[in-house]
Amino acid sequence: MSPPAPLDIDMRGDTDTSSLPVPNPLTVNGVPAWREKMAQMPTGVAAACSSDMFKSPACYTKPKAKRFEHRFSIEAKSRKASTLKNAARFLKNPGIISLGGGLPSPEYFPFEHLDIKVPTPPGFSSEATSQSGTVLRAGKHDIREGSSLYDLEIALNYGQATGAAQLLRFVTEHTELIHSPPYADWQCTLTAGSTYAWDTCLRLLTERGDFILMEEYTFASAAETAFPLGLKALAVPIDEQGLIPDAMDDLLTNWDEQARGARKPFVLYTIPTGQNPTGATQSAERRRAVYKVAQKHDIIIVEDEPYYFLQMQPYVGKDAPSPPPPASHDEFIKSLVPSFLSLDVDGRVVRLESFSKVVAPGTRVGWIVASEQVVERFVRNFETSSQNPSGVSQMVLYKLLDEHWGHSGYLDWLINLRMEYTHRRDALLHSCEKYLPREIAHWAPPSAGMFHWIEIDWHKHPGIASGKTRDAIEEEIFLSAVDHQVLLSRGSWFKADSSVVEEKMFFRATYAAASSEKIDEAISRFAECLRDQFKL
Ligand code: PMP
Repeated sequence: MSPPAPLDIDMRGDTDTSSLPVPNPLTVNGVPAWREKMAQMPTGVAAACSSDMFKSPACYTKPKAKRFEHRFSIEAKSRKASTLKNAARFLKNPGIISLGGGLPSPEYFPFEHLDIKVPTPPGFSSEATSQSGTVLRAGKHDIREGSSLYDLEIALNYGQATGAAQLLRFVTEHTELIHSPPYADWQCTLTAGSTYAWDTCLRLLTERGDFILMEEYTFASAAETAFPLGLKALAVPIDEQGLIPDAMDDLLTNWDEQARGARKPFVLYTIPTGQNPTGATQSAERRRAVYKVAQKHDIIIVEDEPYYFLQMQPYVGKDAPSPPPPASHDEFIKSLVPSFLSLDVDGRVVRLESFSKVVAPGTRVGWIVASEQVVERFVRNFETSSQNPSGVSQMVLYKLLDEHWGHSGYLDWLINLRMEYTHRRDALLHSCEKYLPREIAHWAPPSAGMFHWIEIDWHKHPGIASGKTRDAIEEEIFLSAVDHQVLLSRGSWFKADSSVVEEKMFFRATYAAASSEKIDEAISRFAECLRDQFKL
């Protein structure tokens, strides 16, 4: 099946479309009506699909993305379509008997059905779910029996590298509802999580010996993905709002290829919301400034956004009443800081999305959003690597998100998560205010994510008098905390460039994993450790 024909207009940037009628943008309540109008869902084995089948006509009134082949690696340029995946398109021919592929017969899949019990909005807690959750059943032959658009026969067989059309539709609509990318030819493809998608980004965009731009403290695993590929980090200074655009501009403007022994970097890896490890969130203004620098130096921005929906309520302190939750989906969506994707007039952003922090990391499902040209290269790569995310996971997510919750229920779930995280973050901040010695411990309340970044004024450590180094003091505090039965992460573990001398000292605490009572106990132990260490 081919995608619905986009509106018949030339969408290049130089075309004046001002006199053409502009279709209404997709809305949460408008999804069912839009689905009625659009082309049929492809329900065959390994059916080919693309986001073009699911985007609303409003998308196609925008200009097309710029071309970025000059940024592709040798590997990316040399990939061809998988011969065998391509042959699967003939399976949709009515009456065809396939002896051609290596697809096993579903008769031999030892699964007749799968039952999952999930929350019924608004009862999202574990307790409410165990008492009054809904049991969703995925059967082997639901498509044939007309009870669903997706079944185990399809989900458990091989699929296309884009992921199954059924789940791709949901994430495509979600992307349009939340980010409304400002160019026409954006696409999504499902991934086996952001860790894997980042690894693929590097293979598509870089060569050994290249530098990549990263926040000076960054997600350790993202750096550890890059280094064995022969890449080096160019650490961009940060403040409480993350990346400092002028500093990034300086680094790039003054790049000396000879001295650095490498071409000027053109890939920025950033975690704009609830950054790991610092918890910083870039404001809309900050993002616009970073995007301008990216345009000036022709940078591809990889925005890794697992914490985007962990944007919390404003922190108001212990004694003020908590602000009420967003009153509507619209208010919720408007309260979210704009993503780089939503500012991306050029198509230079690769957005990494993940279900890990908002549904469950063990699903190993995420998706990317980028221009058609870039997504096509990802798909070529996935065809011969991950192939597609787990069919069991895709089925479970489809049942929950599409058939049960729909976009409206998913947004309710995300609002619920926002309130839960706000509660935990507030508990941690109250404990910090109660216990930590202010003369040496400083922090800014995080507005998103899972992390609290505590700065310790190590210059006041008594060990300085006997010549102890900063690194020795950091290690001593860390080990002393372990002795006090509390585990925090050392800031230095997250340095993007280990050769940069650290002036400051940080510890990272998460409020995601423990109850409020446990958080309180942990922070009181850390406070005791600091008092011991600093002789306070
Ligand atoms: N990116 C960041 C910034 C993270 O903090 C994490 C998890 N800690 C991931 C990606 C991992 O995402 P996934 O589970 O989708 O691979």
